[in-house]
Amino acid sequence: MKIVTVVGARPQFIKAAAGSRALRKTHQEILVHTGQHFDDNMSAVFFREMGIPEPDYNLGVSGGSHAQMTAKMLVGIEEILVKEEPDALLVYGDTNSTLAAALAAVKLHIPVIHVEAGNRLGTLDSPEEVNRIATDHVATLDFCATEDALEKLKREGLGDRSYCVGNIMYDSFLHFADQPWENPNIIDFDGNPVTVPNTYYYMTCHRQENTYSDEPLTEILLAMNSLDAPTIYAVHPRNHERARRIVEKEGFTNIILTQPVGYSDSVHLTKNAKKIVTDSGGLQCEAFYAGVQCVFVLDFIVWPETMVDNRNQLAKADHKDILEKLSKQQTINPSYQPFGDGHAAEEICRIINAWERTKH
Ligand code: UDP
Repeated sequence: MKIVTVVGARPQFIKAAAGSRALRKTHQEILVHTGQHFDDNMSAVFFREMGIPEPDYNLGVSGGSHAQMTAKMLVGIEEILVKEEPDALLVYGDTNSTLAAALAAVKLHIPVIHVEAGNRLGTLDSPEEVNRIATDHVATLDFCATEDALEKLKREGLGDRSYCVGNIMYDSFLHFADQPWENPNIIDFDGNPVTVPNTYYYMTCHRQENTYSDEPLTEILLAMNSLDAPTIYAVHPRNHERARRIVEKEGFTNIILTQPVGYSDSVHLTKNAKKIVTDSGGLQCEAFYAGVQCVFVLDFIVWPETMVDNRNQLAKADHKDILEKLSKQQTINPSYQPFGDGHAAEEICRIINAWERTKH
């Protein structure tokens, strides 16, 4: 088959690394980058380091309101789909790129394949939730990372098209976690290399809820600054200015601010961290895979499977709450593996191939 895959944001590149490798064994893939993430350290580094094929198209759409971004992508993707006439369109996750691609394809009667379907926060206040629900419902095949996500789709009447295949991010994580940590390339805001301390906490924080003003981010950094080891905070480009200003103003000398790191560095920073504090959906799962305790700073649970035995705890953007959660100890039950066995991409391809056979 000819399959158009649309990606646009960092976590999608990480998923596509595993997906494209498996898909290209039997299918022709046309890769479209919407341009949602464009900095070298948010985009190109992943293509280089993870062996993702060069995109065939780049729409260069970034910034603007949700409507502006989605509308521009919708128009650009439709043109590509009309020209390429693919047999299917494949999308990952829950970004505006996911939604725009799914809508463009379904209106042209091109079957949509959605990877990482079925996750629900239970609130339409989250823009990603809207993208997930809409994409799941227009898709022909929905691939869930967990049984819980599959159950949610069954409740929404989508059971006949939905499959639990494991988390495709786990495929990428295992691939990199098994390799030695060679040549870390961790750079501070002034372009100087950062030496990773023997003991440290790893933090990412970029969601609107935690970075829309100084207050929540200051609370989170206040907690991290008071810990018994430094925190490496890999900062999303849109939060550079705010993070630097807060750290300087508050005199937080126990925080090491860095530019976004590549995937191998992020995986190894995760594996070797004392604990992790994040508002990232992907990083909390990686902490879980690595057996490193995590505190997730948000009002909503994103991956309920990780919220067991103190392995991942929800905290408010409040320094006391974060410190209290960090002070707890986790226990790990090694037989508890809710994210599959790290072969999600192969399973997805197996089901796509079986579905293709039913069409002939
Ligand atoms: N990540 C990375 N470099 C960084 C920060 C995160 O490679 O500087 C990786 C991280 O390991 C995880 C993914 O990016 O796999 C998470 O992406 P992001 O936080 O942008 O999205 P979310 O998980 O919130 O959807």
